Amino acid sequence: MRYNILIIGAGPVGNYLANLLARDYSVAVVEKKSSFGGKACTGIIGAENYERLNLPKKAILNELYGATFYSRIQSFSIGRKSPQAYLVDRKTLERELAKRAMKKGADYLMSTTFRGFRNGKAVLQHMGETLEVKADFYIGADGVNSTVAKVIGTKTRAEFLSGYEVEVLGSFDRRNVEVWVNKEITPDFFAWVTPIDGETARVGTFGKMEALSRFLRLRRLEPTKILEFKAGPVGFGWRKPWVKGNVALVGDSALQIKPTTAGGIVYGMLCAENLKKALYEGKPEKYWDYCSWVRRQISFGLKFRRLFTGLDQDAIERIFEVLGSEEAREVIETQADFDDHLRTAKALLKRPKLLAKLIKVSPSLIKALL
Ligand SMILES: Cc1cc2nc3c(=O)[nH]c(=O)nc-3n(C[C@H](O)[C@H](O)[C@H](O)COP(=O)(O)OP(=O)(O)OC[C@H]3O[C@@H](n4cnc5c(N)ncnc54)[C@H](O)[C@@H]3O)c2cc1C
Repeated sequence: MRYNILIIGAGPVGNYLANLLARDYSVAVVEKKSSFGGKACTGIIGAENYERLNLPKKAILNELYGATFYSRIQSFSIGRKSPQAYLVDRKTLERELAKRAMKKGADYLMSTTFRGFRNGKAVLQHMGETLEVKADFYIGADGVNSTVAKVIGTKTRAEFLSGYEVEVLGSFDRRNVEVWVNKEITPDFFAWVTPIDGETARVGTFGKMEALSRFLRLRRLEPTKILEFKAGPVGFGWRKPWVKGNVALVGDSALQIKPTTAGGIVYGMLCAENLKKALYEGKPEKYWDYCSWVRRQISFGLKFRRLFTGLDQDAIERIFEVLGSEEAREVIETQADFDDHLRTAKALLKRPKLLAKLIKVSPSLIKALL
């Protein structure tokens, strides 16, 4: 078997990339699982990018218009008239993208695990048999614990966290996400409540499983009304290089993930577009440069994450006082961008009053963000 491009991993990013490439190249995608989906992932994707990337409408489970933020003792809400994000079903998203890629000519090898390279060929385990597949170019889209990244000898400097999420029965406002920032309950990350509809939601956090149990109690969600439990890792940081010889990494395998929220689907897909561009130009080494926007967002997110980790709950309460003010909410409602957190922070810090108040709370936070 020989292809122009072999993509390892049929997650959302691998399938999206297969779509981009399948018309002009012979493409194969290998996936170790026997079916699509199943990864621990809330499935929130910014609405603007969802449309721009032309992702399948069929995968949308709910439209989200706003968010309510809770600290230990305060809360405030922001909202807009049009949906800001969609909650998607990962299985449908991946299947629909794979179907599109197949229709354009991509071959899929399911239940097939990439093991490494031998003599310039990919060694694959397929239903107990070993196959060797030759391609001109190989792409690791095989997630955060990427085998491709290990095999090509990338270096990783990152913080890895375990995510825990349940789908639970309760009573929810289906238009709004809840974001809970309370270090006494979930010390490593915020906790989220993302409604699927009025009676079910995906509820999770990163860090320790006990933190999720504590949060479920705080939120008065019953542990005996859980419909599904999932756990999975996320990595915030850098894994480099993103391209080495005729092998590139994309999506979680390259840690193209927002350290502020752990969202990785959009950044992975935006980088997939940049990889396509570099490949079409015959200059794969340009891929890193073309991803400068995503890299800037990741750098900002890492700074923000370091600062968040260092703040105690009292400082968070004071930040909430500022962000919950009428002026800050107006800025967030009119200028915040679901995927461009750098722009959102800049818009807030442009307001002299807000800047002055935030400097009082944490001078180091503002210095780092500026
Ligand atoms: C709890 C949690 C909640 C999250 N919520 C969100 C969210 O709301 N929104 C968002 O944007 N992101 C979210 N993320 C992050 C998101 O899940 C990832 O960024 C996204 O899945 C990345 O897609 P990917 O295609 O790069 O990798 P993956 O989705 O991990 O896909 C990789 C694929 O490669 C396959 N594979 C792995 N190794 C091999 C191998 N050796 N051979 C063959 N196949 C292989 C895997 O089976 C898998 O199908 C969340 C993550 C966690 C843990």
